[in-house]
Amino acid sequence: MKLNLQLFGVPFRRTSKTKKRMRRTHLKKEVGAISTCPKCGAAIRPHRACMKCGFYKNEEVIKVNQEEK
Ligand SMILES: [Zn+2]
Repeated sequence: MKLNLQLFGVPFRRTSKTKKRMRRTHLKKEVGAISTCPKCGAAIRPHRACMKCGFYKNEEVIKVNQEEK
C-alpha cells in the first residue's frame, strides 16, 4: 500500500541538536522517595521497615542479622 503523505503532518525542517536537547531536558528519571531511618540513619524508603536495623516506627518489626560486617 502506498502512503499518501498529504494525510500526515510532515516536518518542514530537521529538528536541530539544540532543539532536541532542550525538549529532552524534561525527560529524565526521577529519584524515588528516600528518607532516613531515625534509629540508625540509613537511607530507607518511606512506609517500609529499615533493612539495616529492622525498625519501623520505633518498633522492631523484623529480625536483621547484625553479624554481616
Ligand atoms: Zn535503621
